[in-house]
Amino acid sequence: MTETVPSSPGTSVPVNLRIIPREQHAISRKNISAGALRVLYRLNEAGFSAFLVGGAVRDLLLGGRPKDFDVATNATPEDVKRLFRNCRLIGRRFRLAHVVFGNEIVEVATFRGSSDDGSGDRHVVDGRIVRDNVYGTIEEDAVRRDFTVNALYYDIADFSVRDYVGGYEDLMRRELRLIGDPVQRYREDPVRMLRAVRLAAKLEFSIAADARAPFDDLGELLLQAPPARLFDESLKMFMAGSGLKSFRALDTSGLLADVYPLTARALAIKSGVTFRAMIEQGMANTDARVAEGKPVTPAFLFAILLWGPVRAQVEKELARGTDMNLAWMRIGNLVMNEQSRHVAIPRRFAIAIEEIWSLQPRFEQRQKKRVFRLLAHPRFRAAYDFLLLRGGEGTEIAALGAWWTQAQALSHDALAVQLNALPTPSSTAMDDAGDVAAAPLPKRPRRRRKRLPAAVHSPSE
Ligand code: ATP
Ligand code: MG
Repeated sequence: MTETVPSSPGTSVPVNLRIIPREQHAISRKNISAGALRVLYRLNEAGFSAFLVGGAVRDLLLGGRPKDFDVATNATPEDVKRLFRNCRLIGRRFRLAHVVFGNEIVEVATFRGSSDDGSGDRHVVDGRIVRDNVYGTIEEDAVRRDFTVNALYYDIADFSVRDYVGGYEDLMRRELRLIGDPVQRYREDPVRMLRAVRLAAKLEFSIAADARAPFDDLGELLLQAPPARLFDESLKMFMAGSGLKSFRALDTSGLLADVYPLTARALAIKSGVTFRAMIEQGMANTDARVAEGKPVTPAFLFAILLWGPVRAQVEKELARGTDMNLAWMRIGNLVMNEQSRHVAIPRRFAIAIEEIWSLQPRFEQRQKKRVFRLLAHPRFRAAYDFLLLRGGEGTEIAALGAWWTQAQALSHDALAVQLNALPTPSSTAMDDAGDVAAAPLPKRPRRRRKRLPAAVHSPSE
């Protein structure tokens, strides 16, 4: 039987319950975390309905291992708090309960309603929902979710899966389909466009034609999306193991220009081919590290994503005759500030990013004192890895990377001997690397006499 359930103010979505019994789906309790099972069972024993929901159900059905488990229930956050000592209530826009078991946090949300009859606590500004504490039925909870495949409920009472919006079929067809009218759902929350691109890339799903069609017109709404959410979404895109696929999908979707406008512009200019190759290599390396369980830092990835704009603008600044160190500092800062209007990159990462950039010209300085100082720099490793990634920019940069690789393989004394044999410039003024650092860049007016360029030396020299 089909009924319609209000999803957003003024619209309704047809809802048709299909129950997939335990023996007809692939979800086994073995793959559900101990914490999530405890929460589900205890809620159920206390007389509440309790479901696993969202990405966890989707991923379990696909045979994956969810990284977090969300629970939906008709218990209010206060009910949940009474049932679990290890529970804290969080959230302003949505009030949620977090139940904590050691490292595991199980998020418990009360069914959320959508109809605004004035009884709840919902606040909409320009079509965007900014606060939403209206409790509702499971049907209402289902239709306010983004994609049909994200609106499947695993019922702890009988281990069945409940599907209200055709998500099970879409999952089998590996297609992302929005619940309700795509244009309206994107207007309500433009970040859903990014979620479509990210989930399609990660799950290797297609995006339904009507869910993709509005990107061109509505993509620019992302320019005004909350920067904190775009940061979170960026981490999920680039740091969760499918960075390369996400980047490519974001680029081809056209949405890159609405979240990383400087990057998109730098990809479109002549040097864009090299820049793209560098981003792709950086993403592939990060994915490999994630797959091996090694730590990854967002600073490094953001430094890569914004390198194209930094490099192009530093070139211009140097051509104008600006002092080398000043140029790097000024442009690094400028690019970070510009990007931060879109994506809220936390200060500690921004500092690291700017340092990775400003260390790049210092790799070209081969006076002994400077080499040892750079090797001891706390950000040396990241900056050196970054230099290696830049290898595609030209043979000089590649050779520079190779030089620093061999330099690290040498003992302190052996490196000192090698460096003593190099021609040394007479002065150590702060900007004396300008000539060498700018070697691959166009000639610029010089105010000082040209110094000896520290050419790239092979280990045998
Ligand atoms: P991931 O595997 O990346 O965590 P996910 O689907 O679980 O993917 P979450 O951000 O953890 O994503 O969200 C959990 C669930 O909340 C989603 O599955 C979806 O049902 C709902 N949801 C999340 N974001 C939105 C949104 N912007 N609009 C509507 N529903 C959303
Ligand atoms: Mg999730």
